[in-house]
Amino acid sequence: MFIPTISPSQLSTYELCPRKWAFDKMDGIRSPSSPAAALGGAVHSVLENWLRDGTFPPAGRPGLIAKSLIPHLPAPGVGKVELVYELKATEDLTYSGRIDLMYVAPDGVHVIHDHKTTGNLRWAKTPHELLTDFQAIQYAAASLEDTGAASARLEWGYVTTKGAIRAHIVTQDVTKDHVAREMQKQDALAAELIHFYKERPKALEVLANPAACNAFGGCHYRTAGLCDGSNNTKGKGEMGLADTLKARKKEQAEAPPPPPAAAVEAEAPPPAQAPKVNPPATTRRRGLNKPTTTTETKPDPETKAGIGLKDLRDAVALCVLSGLASQKDGPELESAGKFCYAVADSFLKARG
Ligand code: SF4
Repeated sequence: MFIPTISPSQLSTYELCPRKWAFDKMDGIRSPSSPAAALGGAVHSVLENWLRDGTFPPAGRPGLIAKSLIPHLPAPGVGKVELVYELKATEDLTYSGRIDLMYVAPDGVHVIHDHKTTGNLRWAKTPHELLTDFQAIQYAAASLEDTGAASARLEWGYVTTKGAIRAHIVTQDVTKDHVAREMQKQDALAAELIHFYKERPKALEVLANPAACNAFGGCHYRTAGLCDGSNNTKGKGEMGLADTLKARKKEQAEAPPPPPAAAVEAEAPPPAQAPKVNPPATTRRRGLNKPTTTTETKPDPETKAGIGLKDLRDAVALCVLSGLASQKDGPELESAGKFCYAVADSFLKARG
């Protein structure tokens, strides 16, 4: 099975919203490039040509922007330009990327330089933020592997593209130990991506992060009508959890008594399908999708009512299985739990 290499930008996108990553990597629908990204690419090309052989920046906006960074860079021909790396972490996991520039500073430290264009310097990362930045850490890991050094210096060269052109350099030294610790975090996240590369779900089956819909000027997949930012969307033609539970409630109200246990078991989605939709619970992070243990069992009301244990258990199990198989987040599972008990109550009443 072919599993692509994992870039820092893939990890960043996935961390922002797993479904957004999946639209690109699972469904093959790419976000269109923005004018700002195109200008950034043009500035990168100018700087690359300058660093390789001293080609002077051409007239025009990209050249003008690039010129403001040149005083902060080493002379042409010094260092490695556009260095492509591959870092193999496990049998399945290989990281890859391209470093704008690597050179040795006068104090002997190996420097990793990245050109950054931005509309405003307030978006520039701080030295502290570079310590955990996926791209910075992965680049440092590649550099340390290449040089065998005990530390490296991250140098992020920002230049503004709007209004007056201003350059701003952010630096941060990192040790080999720190980079190794941060790469372990990336390994854990990358394992989720590899899980999806193996399972190949459709994007709408992957967890959405509604909090990310307005980030970076708004998500293209929402603008294009492909995603409403809801985790209720399970896929074309399928019902979300809320719809499923409503339908079940209606069925139960219209057709008492409830089906026998055997029929309930046949109707319930097989729990084994749930992990195919999202990564194993042990690898989920940051509350994006809480472990299934959030479906706590409340005190059993049936003992008070003196009703048959087996039938009530089957009714509740049906609801809980629906919730688990739908892979919903904490609040929705809690809501599903409440509904399960409502179903159990009406079932008890139906049985007298
Ligand atoms: S619209 Fe929101 S939830 Fe959907 S992919 Fe974009 S960021 Fe994620």
